[in-house]
Amino acid sequence: MILKLIIFAVAGLLIYKFFGGKFPTLAKNPQEKKLDEDTLVECAKCSTYVTIKESIVVNGKYYCSQECAN
Ligand SMILES: [Zn+2]
Repeated sequence: MILKLIIFAVAGLLIYKFFGGKFPTLAKNPQEKKLDEDTLVECAKCSTYVTIKESIVVNGKYYCSQECAN
């Protein structure tokens, strides 16, 4: 019985580590990730504003499209 509990605890810890130390549903600020993805960034080439999730990051700079990133 105790062995089962230990295995469960270790498995839980591994899953916890797998998610980078925080579960999506238990995150301190669940909207933080969403906010980051929807944050507008300026294309380094044509100055078009795109959301981070739609942008392409090359050498720390944001680009609106693959065309601008080249
Ligand atoms: Zn661009």
